[in-house]
Amino acid sequence: MSKINIIGSGLVGSLLSIYLVKKGHTVTIYERRPDMRKNRISAGRSINLALSDRGWKGLEGVGIADEIRKVALPMSGRMIHSIDGNIGYQPYGKEGQAINSVSRGGLNCVLMDLAEKNGVKIIFNSRCAHVDLNNASMTMEDGETKKTTNVEADFIIGTDGAYSAARLQMQLTSDRFQYAQSYLPHGYKELTIPPVNNDFALDPKGLHIWPRGTYMLIALPNLDKSFTCTLFFPFEGENSFKALDSIDKARSFFEKMFGDALKMMPDFDQEYSNNPVSSLVTVKCFPWHVKNKLLLMGDAAHAIVPFYGQGMNCGFEDCVVFNKLMEEMGTDWEAIFEKFEQLRKPDGDAIADLAVANFVEMRDKVGHADFLLQKKIEASFSAKHPDKWIPLYTMVTYSPHIRYSEALHEGNRQEKIMNKVMALPGIDQKWDSKEVEEMILNLL
Ligand code: FAD
Repeated sequence: MSKINIIGSGLVGSLLSIYLVKKGHTVTIYERRPDMRKNRISAGRSINLALSDRGWKGLEGVGIADEIRKVALPMSGRMIHSIDGNIGYQPYGKEGQAINSVSRGGLNCVLMDLAEKNGVKIIFNSRCAHVDLNNASMTMEDGETKKTTNVEADFIIGTDGAYSAARLQMQLTSDRFQYAQSYLPHGYKELTIPPVNNDFALDPKGLHIWPRGTYMLIALPNLDKSFTCTLFFPFEGENSFKALDSIDKARSFFEKMFGDALKMMPDFDQEYSNNPVSSLVTVKCFPWHVKNKLLLMGDAAHAIVPFYGQGMNCGFEDCVVFNKLMEEMGTDWEAIFEKFEQLRKPDGDAIADLAVANFVEMRDKVGHADFLLQKKIEASFSAKHPDKWIPLYTMVTYSPHIRYSEALHEGNRQEKIMNKVMALPGIDQKWDSKEVEEMILNLL
């Protein structure tokens, strides 16, 4: 059995550690932050996430899906808030299908508890400052004393997120290591809609979106009946964080563009002024491993923007794939690492591209009649021919047996067909006709 050191006890590192100890390995996680079970999570930083079927599969594999289901809030569709205050509902899939709002911190705490219960050792306040890729040793710095120590293992897994120290070491020392990072021109700021009379101020069964073309506000429900809202907004330009440089300007902008939401935000002034603006990065790199000494996983290998709600789900799917490889290949680590990156790199790239494209859908297209008509045609055709057409959103969100790379490929094919269908004269009248059905069948 192997001695494995993991960097980062975030969502992916914690889940992965459970899969590893269950195979009999000795696992220690080194985490830069203090133990979040004893300390409050900082305000204004992504407190809830949408968990969907790929993520559930990861949690089921270690037997905690039922526990998390009890604290998850199902959201079956989008609630679109137009500028005049009207709200329209767009289901995400078929009856019974939903994504789930879960507390990021809460989920992380459950995963760490379970990891420790199964024998994983988590060392907090311990930052990985350097990795020696030749012998899988790391220099760890204590967060309080700044004292450094050296730790060794058979190999290291870097699940230390989008700004991974393990990956940086590969960039600095690995020959022909490919690395690309790109930032969106938008950042995000979190705001809160608190409960009203101890109840949700909005319908909690939907993911609320205020699409405004080049930017948007969204809101996901929390167990305490509040909503966490996220404003995705350009850093610079006419309508931007830079332009809204006083609380008066921000308030009057919100009154004009998000009037109904602002009325439900009693702490707007304080939150807008104090909560940080964070950036949105995509990271692609390759390879993900160094011999049998180091492997990257989760955001460290493939950080993506949040518009498909898949970053954590994709990281949990990494754990499922890795577990399957351990079952097939035992402890032939170098072969496992190689196979893992071969399998997962195309999927990481695919979901990264899908996530960027979905930003345009969320902030703009969902508010247009054409988009709604196209989705209606696809849903109707898919209901008649489920073996021939699965909508892209369903493939990504509710179909863990379909790889992200296949979903992307199939989605592109569908989009070409739908462009032709939507160009048919009078399509809004005959969208449910035999003619349209035949046309799609022929184009397929
Ligand atoms: P992280 O969660 O970043 O964890 C990395 C851990 O490593 C942290 O605990 C960190 O402290 C630690 N660490 C970092 N450096 C070091 C070091 N040098 N030494 C020791 N420890 C270190 N995903 C979804 O699936 N659904 C969503 O709805 C969704 N919404 C999102 C919304 C926003 C605004 C954002 C920003 C992301 C969202 N995501 C979502 C993505 C999701 O949060 C990430 O994909 C997920 O957290 C990745 O988990 P991870 O464990 O790989 O990395």
